[in-house]
Amino acid sequence: MGSTASGARTTVVIVGGGISGLATAHRLIAKRPTLDVQVLEAAPRPGGTLGSDLELGFAFERGPNGFLDNVPHTLKLAEELGLQESLLPASGAARKRYLLKQGRLIALPLGPLQLLTSPLLSVVGKLRALAEPFRARRDSRYEESVAAFARRRLGAEAATMFFDPLVTGIYAGDPDRIGLEAAFPRLHAMEREHGGLLRAMVARVRSRRKGAMAAGPDPKGGAGRLHSFRRGMEDLAQALSARLGGRLRLAVPVEELRVRKGEGYECVLRDRSVVRSRALVLAVPAPRAANLVGPWSPDLALSLEEIPYAPVAVVCLGFRREDVEHPLDGFGFLAPRNQGLRTLGAIFVSTIFPDHAPPGHVSLRVMAGGARDPEAVGLPELELEALVRREIGPLLGLRGEPVAHKVYRYPQGIPQYNVGHSKRVRRVEGWLSQLPGLFVTGNAYRGVSVNDCVFEGGRVAEEVLKFMGDQRVVA
Ligand SMILES: Cc1cc2nc3c(=O)[nH]c(=O)nc-3n(C[C@H](O)[C@H](O)[C@H](O)COP(=O)(O)OP(=O)(O)OC[C@H]3O[C@@H](n4cnc5c(N)ncnc54)[C@H](O)[C@@H]3O)c2cc1C
Repeated sequence: MGSTASGARTTVVIVGGGISGLATAHRLIAKRPTLDVQVLEAAPRPGGTLGSDLELGFAFERGPNGFLDNVPHTLKLAEELGLQESLLPASGAARKRYLLKQGRLIALPLGPLQLLTSPLLSVVGKLRALAEPFRARRDSRYEESVAAFARRRLGAEAATMFFDPLVTGIYAGDPDRIGLEAAFPRLHAMEREHGGLLRAMVARVRSRRKGAMAAGPDPKGGAGRLHSFRRGMEDLAQALSARLGGRLRLAVPVEELRVRKGEGYECVLRDRSVVRSRALVLAVPAPRAANLVGPWSPDLALSLEEIPYAPVAVVCLGFRREDVEHPLDGFGFLAPRNQGLRTLGAIFVSTIFPDHAPPGHVSLRVMAGGARDPEAVGLPELELEALVRREIGPLLGLRGEPVAHKVYRYPQGIPQYNVGHSKRVRRVEGWLSQLPGLFVTGNAYRGVSVNDCVFEGGRVAEEVLKFMGDQRVVA
């Protein structure tokens, strides 16, 4: 522990022990092992939405199903934590993906040529989509929704069939509200840099052929392969928790925050004990951060509250293999909104990660709710499970009862990067700049994936260290 000219303790406190808070703490102690860091987590277990439950040999994921290797962040973290042995890449069988159309699961075309023969679009829809390279690049002064972008470039039919499920699969969001630039920066860049999606794909293939893409993670972030761990994402939460040791305190919700003028911050815990710190990182969902800072920074609170969340529910089902007719030969399926289901889609977990189901069984993970059906998350568990089984039953040929099942509900599930998101984040940053030593991190700001959270945690850790350095703190 170090000291400052004023003699205050130099502790860094991180509120929230989800992947964002844990990754921030890990990076801080990796860079400065003697730094006095504490993570205060409300729940009795680490990881936030990331983590798994083992039920009768099934690894049911509470939140993320895995992370992609198209960027190195989580892979590198796993390596630093000694998790190489536990790493589990998705099986090759998971490459195929399905979309629902008129009660049938149809394979997603893997390229423009396959699109020609796919029954997913009508002839008119196909011609309009294939005219994409001839659509003019848009003047990008004004932010556009994903749906507007897709309709403009590919036509209404392709927008609904392909981009609606894309937004659902990542954000459980509404494509007419989700902003292209903040939510899908790569798509935005494809048009800006190459004039269109197909042109960008061709350029990518060409540069690959030239060998410009060296072995290892794709710096431009291609599709990537999904990874998890032997016992599920829980392995990552547990390894981070073990690395932090006594620096991570569980079941200690922070109930109140106070500013100590020029000396840092105070966290008031449920038992009214106080933890003081020079620097404070809020790694909690934005609405929770808003509640905590509201009493002394209403402007910051207001900006944080402007970031909306979509509720989402996850229904995990384990079946005997013989009770599911469908070959489950792929990653899973997504249902465009106009197909009339409340189920957003289902993942064939045991095809992706065969280790996550006992022999002779299959594991499915079904999502419901989202920005366009917020009421679904409020349904009683049994009703929710019955609803998704009723909807996916005929599609997958489900027979009989599942041998294991579990429902997870998140009323504030996934932050929505709606049009204007970047401006909202800049407003948050503006108010934060007036509160030295206060930082925010988490999935609400610059990316919702596990990779994004790990990367952002590292970036915020650097900012904290810079702040501590500027304070002439001697660690
Ligand atoms: C259903 C679902 C599926 C997903 N699937 C994927 C996927 O397959 N791949 C992928 O990359 N990403 C996926 N994501 C996204 C990703 O999992 C999340 O964005 C990420 O886990 C969020 O981490 P976080 O630490 O920012 O927030 P959280 O996990 O929400 O953690 C915040 C923590 O703060 C704690 N907290 C709150 N208030 C207080 C308080 N007052 N005091 C102390 N602690 C407090 C909470 O208990 C929690 O542990 C999914 C998300 C969901 C919900």
